[in-house]
Amino acid sequence: RRDRAYRSHPRNEGVDDLQDEEELGTARPVQIVVADEEEHSFLLQEAALERLLLREEVQDLNVVVVSVAGAFRKGKSFLLDFMLRYMYRQSPDSWVGGEEQPLTGFTWRGGCERETTGILAWSEVFVMEKPDGSKVAVLLMDTQGAFDSQSTIRECATLFALSTMTSSVQVYNLSQNLQEDDLQHLQVRSATIMLMVILCCQTLMFLVRDWSYPYEHPYGLEGGRSFLEKRLQVKPNQHEELQNVRKHIRSCFSNICCFLLPHPGLRVATNPHFDGRLKDIDDEFKKELLNLVPALLSPQNLVEKEIGGVKITCRDLVLYFKAYMKIYQG
Ligand code: GDP
Ligand code: MG
Repeated sequence: RRDRAYRSHPRNEGVDDLQDEEELGTARPVQIVVADEEEHSFLLQEAALERLLLREEVQDLNVVVVSVAGAFRKGKSFLLDFMLRYMYRQSPDSWVGGEEQPLTGFTWRGGCERETTGILAWSEVFVMEKPDGSKVAVLLMDTQGAFDSQSTIRECATLFALSTMTSSVQVYNLSQNLQEDDLQHLQVRSATIMLMVILCCQTLMFLVRDWSYPYEHPYGLEGGRSFLEKRLQVKPNQHEELQNVRKHIRSCFSNICCFLLPHPGLRVATNPHFDGRLKDIDDEFKKELLNLVPALLSPQNLVEKEIGGVKITCRDLVLYFKAYMKIYQG
């Protein structure tokens, strides 16, 4: 994994409090939940999680957890890398980087190598100041699974529920459209789990990539609102199950939104040598990216993680992770 270390930003050079042999002086993605495919279960990497969240500077701060979830190869890491740029710059302008600067961070350049199902977190938990002067800790997570294969729908629903329960903002990354299957991943196994999810999560953003109908619903949050309104409509002639999925989603999240992102251009989608530099990305995409990332991460938009209406700290989050894992294992 060393080749993936985040080296391009000077602020990373001081990050040396990661332990033992992993002490590279560079931040990187860390696997915190791993799927055990044989057992059809998930394992929490407790030590790794504690190493991130129990660092002295962050453990007592209220936590903001932003997760990007969805199938493999749909541009999650690409987006997360831009989120990292924003976090490292923490400035409203010029965060997006130089035209010739390759993108680094979560990005995996392994080609055909199989990726693991589970949850990755960025090893550096960021400290940010909100407009009211209070400090919060921001954890970025990457939740990935084979969301597109029928046989694993149930497992992915579990993984999705788990990352949703532990995040304050869940960005559900979708390709091209919002389909019925995508909605079904949001359904959970039992009434107890559903109750837990309802008590736990705050914001769900459907992020539709490669949106190609801007003339029907324009790019960005506004177009996303009208699109989502339409897709989540419960119609009397709909099959009962479809109606239920919609009602369930509406009841679950206190804030649901949708962002329509344009296609980033052919160089991004098809050129094997593409390394994330801005000059290869379509202008339209960059323009929307400049709205999307601050909408999720700017100090005034940060959503602190709450459980049962109470804000929780990084230290609490470790406990909740452990408790939630038990629910799914039991
Ligand atoms: P992940 O597996 O979901 O993390 O996907 P990656 O971020 O690794 O991206 C997979 C591939 O899709 C890469 O070749 C990216 O250059 C490309 N890509 C990134 N964003 C987009 C997008 O919005 N649309 C399309 N069509 N391709 C994208
Ligand atoms: Mg990825």
